[in-house]
Amino acid sequence: MASPLIVGNWKMNLGLRDALALAVAVGDAPVTGVQMVVCPPFPWLVPVRDALGGSPVALGAQNCASEPQGAHTGEVSAPMLAELCRFVIVGHSERRATYGETDPIIARKTRAVLEAGLTPIVCVGENLDQRQRGDAVAVVHAHLAGSLSEIEPAAIARCIVAYEPVWAIGTGVAATADDAAAMAAAIREWLVSIHQDVGSTLPILYGGSVTATNAAALLAPEDIGGALVGGASLDAVAFTAIAEAARR
Ligand code: PEP
Repeated sequence: MASPLIVGNWKMNLGLRDALALAVAVGDAPVTGVQMVVCPPFPWLVPVRDALGGSPVALGAQNCASEPQGAHTGEVSAPMLAELCRFVIVGHSERRATYGETDPIIARKTRAVLEAGLTPIVCVGENLDQRQRGDAVAVVHAHLAGSLSEIEPAAIARCIVAYEPVWAIGTGVAATADDAAAMAAAIREWLVSIHQDVGSTLPILYGGSVTATNAAALLAPEDIGGALVGGASLDAVAFTAIAEAARR
């Protein structure tokens, strides 16, 4: 089984000085047996990479363009990111909700990330209305079908899926471990239906108000291979404690 993966999404937070201090603190205390990843804002990728130095903590980006190059003012392409980092978060709910990213756009971004040789962390998850209507699994399956529609079944093996219920992101209200486990199993079922071998091994992360306190319970279910962490990733002590909790 792959090492648990703990990914910190710093979002649009931290000035350069604080970003470097956080990178040094996280990079100096890697947790053995856990792949830790930090995803700073674009302008801090190079300085954070340098601050991490030879640390096993890896670098990721929070987004990328769907096109590899050209007249796309303000965008950053996957081939550019491939010179700096290993992972790219794709289809975060904040990008879906605030920046109008649809499944077809996310599908193109996922393909661009794979073509650049990077690992996409593809985010899926229902909002509160959808959960209350009993549609959570259908929404997540639709996100998977849409976001991975441009990817050959065998290449899906190079993706990571993050289940991030929208109602849990940044709210302090995490899913229960049972709900997270049930959705991870539903995601696994969908993946296996596309490709038996790939679906049974592909890492599934949980994201949404993960803290040092709730991490052990949320990361215990068999189908959950790690966490995507927002707020708590801005605190080196909390982020490292979450990684400790992920150690199996
Ligand atoms: C996220 O934004 O991906 C996230 C999980 O945020 P938080 O941990 O703050 O809920």
